[in-house]
Amino acid sequence: MLDGKVALVTGAGRGIGKQIALTLAEKGATVIVNFNGSKEKAQETVQEIEAKGGKAQMYQCDVSDMTSCGEMIAELIKAYGRIDILVNNAGITRDNLLMRMSEEEFDEVIRVNLKGCFNTMKHVSRYMLKQKGGRIINISSVTGLIGNAGQANYCASKAGVIGLTKSAARELGSRGITVNAIAPGFIETEMTAVLSEKLKETMTEQTLLKRTGSAKEVAAVAAFLASEDASYITGQVISVDGGMAL
Ligand code: NAP
Repeated sequence: MLDGKVALVTGAGRGIGKQIALTLAEKGATVIVNFNGSKEKAQETVQEIEAKGGKAQMYQCDVSDMTSCGEMIAELIKAYGRIDILVNNAGITRDNLLMRMSEEEFDEVIRVNLKGCFNTMKHVSRYMLKQKGGRIINISSVTGLIGNAGQANYCASKAGVIGLTKSAARELGSRGITVNAIAPGFIETEMTAVLSEKLKETMTEQTLLKRTGSAKEVAAVAAFLASEDASYITGQVISVDGGMAL
């Protein structure tokens, strides 16, 4: 279903990004597995894809760096001639209460989670406009919709991703490019593994389904948004949160 498509997934060495990379590759896309620090994990992701007969390449790039993003995308265009799907998944947390949050904690999260999306979208959209088509999928969060105590930086970045998504959808729609966001709830990854058992229980209790979600459940929606079946969907935020934000 994604045969012949080229997909760039940021932060794809582990967690949700890895699962998105595996799922897009299973559906036939050639996947660029972007990573920042986790080289070995990115290598493993590429190996897993290749072991199943898929095509993948790893690429180191800090998405918060505008110049590096431009270089990465220019090199990929040179190698593959096109980028059909961009999944902005890279993200970090630096949790603290508002009054205790340092300027660095605030800026770092905004730089990676929000500016990182802008950096890749700015460069990729140039080529997608020429191609007259493309799919951009940004991973936001339920917390970007409803906020979360102790995560003012993270929630601001994820709410920003929604504004960025909707604006880009308006700018790029007439050229056949769709831009959507996914707002996951509580998904079991390394990011949430550090939370206390009590907080995990409280968050699970807030879902209507009374359970946590899996990276596979997020990846399935990303694959749908990247597919031909989603060709008339743009500017949307799809929650994958077990009903947490209802
Ligand atoms: P994770 O397991 O902590 O993985 C984070 C990923 O982001 C890693 O692959 C990491 O790559 C990458 N990354 C971080 N900084 C980067 C940078 N500067 N440049 C490139 N890549 C960078 O987190 P996750 O749970 O899979 O989260 C993935 C996305 O989903 C994030 O945007 C997160 O905010 C969002 N999300 C997660 C949940 C959840 O419950 N888990 C809920 C809502 C939204 P390296 O290791 O190579 O640095």
